[in-house]
Amino acid sequence: MSDDPLVEAIPDLPKVVLHDHLDGGLRPQTVLELADAVGHHVPAHDAESLAQWFQQAADSGSLVRYLETFDHTLAVMQTPEALARVAKEAVLDLASDGVVYAEQRWAPEQHLTRGLSLEATVEAVQAGIEAGVAEAAAGGRTIVVGQLVTAMRHADRWQEIAELAVAYRDRGVVGFDIAGPEDGFPPDRHAGIWRYLADNDFPVTIHAGEAAGPASIAQAVHLGQADRIGHGVRIIEDIAFDDETQTATLGRLAHWVRDHQIPLEVAPVSNLQTSATAAKTIAEHPITRLKELDFAVTLNTDNRLMSRTSMSHEMRLLVQHAGWTIDDLADVTIAAAWGTFQHHDARRALVEDVIVPGFQKIEGALL
Ligand SMILES: [Zn+2]
Repeated sequence: MSDDPLVEAIPDLPKVVLHDHLDGGLRPQTVLELADAVGHHVPAHDAESLAQWFQQAADSGSLVRYLETFDHTLAVMQTPEALARVAKEAVLDLASDGVVYAEQRWAPEQHLTRGLSLEATVEAVQAGIEAGVAEAAAGGRTIVVGQLVTAMRHADRWQEIAELAVAYRDRGVVGFDIAGPEDGFPPDRHAGIWRYLADNDFPVTIHAGEAAGPASIAQAVHLGQADRIGHGVRIIEDIAFDDETQTATLGRLAHWVRDHQIPLEVAPVSNLQTSATAAKTIAEHPITRLKELDFAVTLNTDNRLMSRTSMSHEMRLLVQHAGWTIDDLADVTIAAAWGTFQHHDARRALVEDVIVPGFQKIEGALL
C-alpha cells in the first residue's frame, strides 16, 4: 500500500506494451504444471520459490544464469497446447493489469524440439491469444494483441523466419524482430532480409542498444530500417551532458533517432538486471533523461517472470523513484499507442477513444 493516490490508481490506468516476451512471461505455477507434464526438471517445487529462483537467476549479474532461465520456460513450451496456454494466460495477465493493447514477441524456431513446424507454433500461439482476448472480454476487459515473430541473432534462420512472419501478417502477426546476442551478430549478418521486409512493407523492431552501443542502433535503423528499437537505451552514449550548464548535446545518430521519433521500447527493471545501462537505480535510469529530451520513449516489461514485473510495477517505480507524474505516464502510453504496428486509423482510435479518456478519468478522480 502507498499513501500516494497516483500510485494507488496505476492499476486502473490504460496501458500499452510493445515489448513483452512470451517465453519470459509465464506464470510460475504454469511452469510447474507444464514441466511436470513433460518430465522436465525445474529448480523449485512451489510457485513462490520458483518465482524467486527466476528473479534471482536473472538478477545474478551472470549472463549464463540469466539465459538458463529461458532453458526452463522454452522446455515447457514445445506443444500446441502448452504454447496456447502460455499465450492465453499472458493475455489474461496483461488485461488484468490494465493493458489495452499488447504486442507479444517470441521466436518460433525455439519451439520445435518436439516436432512442431514453424507454422504450427504460430497457429498455436494465435489460438491462445484469441482465447485470452475472448476470456478477457467476457470478464469486461477489452484488449487487442498482436504477435511479433522473432528470429534469433545467433541462428541463421532469419530469412525463413522473416518469410514466416510475412506469411502470417493477416493471421495475427504484426511485425518482425531479432533478439539474442546483440554483440557480434549485427543486422548485416543477413543483410538481404531487411530489403525483403521493406519490399513487403512489413513492420520491424530490432533489439539494439541493450548489450551493444550506438553502432548497433545505427545498423538497426539504417540497414534494418527498424520502425522501433528494442530498448535502445544506449543511445544515451551518443549524447553529451554538461552538468554545469544543464545542457545536452546530441550526436548525429541521437538526432536521427529523435528526429524520426523512432519509438524506444524501454524496460527499466530488465535494463538494470542485464546492466544495459550504467545506472544502478530506477532514479538514474536514462529513461527519464531521454523522455525529457523528447525521444519517443515507451515503457515495457520485457520479461515479466524473470524481472518479477508488470506494467503497473514499472510505472509505480518511476513514480516513486524518478519523480514521474501522471502526465509522464500518459506521454509514454500515448507514444506507445502511436508506435503500435497497427494502421494509422487504429492507432488514432486507440489514443483518442481509449488512452486519453482512460487517463482523464483517473486524473479527474485524483483532483
Ligand atoms: Zn527483449
